[in-house]
Amino acid sequence: MNAWKCVCSQVASYAPFTLFPTRVPSTVFTQALTVQTHFNRLVDRVSQNPSFLEESLASTIKVDDFTARLFNIYKQVQKEGRAQEIVLGLNRSDYMLDQNPDGGTSLKQIEINTIAASFGGLASQTPDVHRHILKVANLLEEQNQILDNNPAAGLARGLAKAWELYGTESAVVMFLVEDLQRNIYDHRYIENELWKKNVPVIRRRFVDVSRTGHLDQRRRLFVDGKEIAIVYFRNGYMPQNYTSEQSWDARLMMERSLAVKCPDISTHLAGTKKVQQELARAGVLERFFPDEPETVAQIRATFAGLYTLDMGEEGDKTVAMALANPDQYVLKPQREGGGNNIYGQEICKVLEKVKNSSERTAYILMDKIQPVPSQNYLVQPGAPVKLNDCLSELGVFGAYVRKGKEMVLNECVGHLLRTKSSEHADGGVAAGVAVLDNPLLF
Ligand code: ADP
Ligand code: MG
Ligand code: MG
Repeated sequence: MNAWKCVCSQVASYAPFTLFPTRVPSTVFTQALTVQTHFNRLVDRVSQNPSFLEESLASTIKVDDFTARLFNIYKQVQKEGRAQEIVLGLNRSDYMLDQNPDGGTSLKQIEINTIAASFGGLASQTPDVHRHILKVANLLEEQNQILDNNPAAGLARGLAKAWELYGTESAVVMFLVEDLQRNIYDHRYIENELWKKNVPVIRRRFVDVSRTGHLDQRRRLFVDGKEIAIVYFRNGYMPQNYTSEQSWDARLMMERSLAVKCPDISTHLAGTKKVQQELARAGVLERFFPDEPETVAQIRATFAGLYTLDMGEEGDKTVAMALANPDQYVLKPQREGGGNNIYGQEICKVLEKVKNSSERTAYILMDKIQPVPSQNYLVQPGAPVKLNDCLSELGVFGAYVRKGKEMVLNECVGHLLRTKSSEHADGGVAAGVAVLDNPLLF
């Protein structure tokens, strides 16, 4: 069970998992995999559209300091001009299965993570865990149905392709990591895939970049004397990650540099919840795919209801709707990492406070997805194992590399199933709520 270890402080422990896999309809599973390359292209196109990003985020950045600081870096890079034409996107689009009135289920996107999307490494190991359990339990038919899954290899393929295009053999891939990295083994599976391809990897924190990093005249980035081909952000997605002004300076230096950023600042912003809500407006997807009605239809089919809280009549309507039926919605700030959303009566409390001020534009409102619960045992370090009513969230990993105008790689590289007790409205594996799982297709 080495594969499961994750490090907290000095203690290595296993990552939590469900005892059994969870049944997922094969039609919606295939739908999620099929739409992924379209989402890759959508994120990429949004990231290249300054007027769309600017208009979408205009109200948010007036009231949300974190998004405003990211946006400020974006503007600085725009003004100076991009140093690098190679773009690497590694994202994870997350879904839940909503219950239809006719008893079926439909795939609804929760969000798309364009920065530090995690668990591609550990998800590459979970199939063998469930195969083993099912074999021991003599459930041999089910055992054979556990799908192969190797997002670590696919994510590494994207990184390796971008490294190769960067074109300097001595340059390294730098994983930008947290000071205390709990989920380190998740990174290691990707890192090991890179070493197998003879792509050198280093791991550094913001503070290391501040202390030892610099740009040369061509804006090549050097950290600890090593030229950096790719900065792979596994940190930097939430305000707490920026512990000082030096962290922000380091982010700006990396964004200005010739290194390929995964993601670059524009792709980071393309993954905000505000952008997600703006993309769901009528006619917007058509602007990004003017000649591809089928692509538009496939993407839109996964959208849940998303509503603006911008000042004005439309936003006022959203407030009234949420106050009238809070249990049908989720109120979301521009944050990542789980545990930030607002549900039920809390929605009323928050909206009553901010409904008449521009503060409300820090949030978006979303229809609450209501999946059918399933039963499972959650195996978590230090917790008793008991049968729970559970909800699952399916993630799909995407990887793409673009050089200038040419898409060099665009792939769906694997999946992730996370399951949690239905008593928790929010929170992922890293937040200590959800656990790793595998789909059992039917
Ligand atoms: P984060 O970026 O913090 O992961 P998410 O949008 O993924 O933010 O929300 C966190 C969690 O909240 C999700 O993993 C899911 O469990 C729950 N959640 C988010 N949106 C919805 C929704 N529309 N309906 C039901 N649950 C949701
Ligand atoms: Mg997220
Ligand atoms: Mg999420």
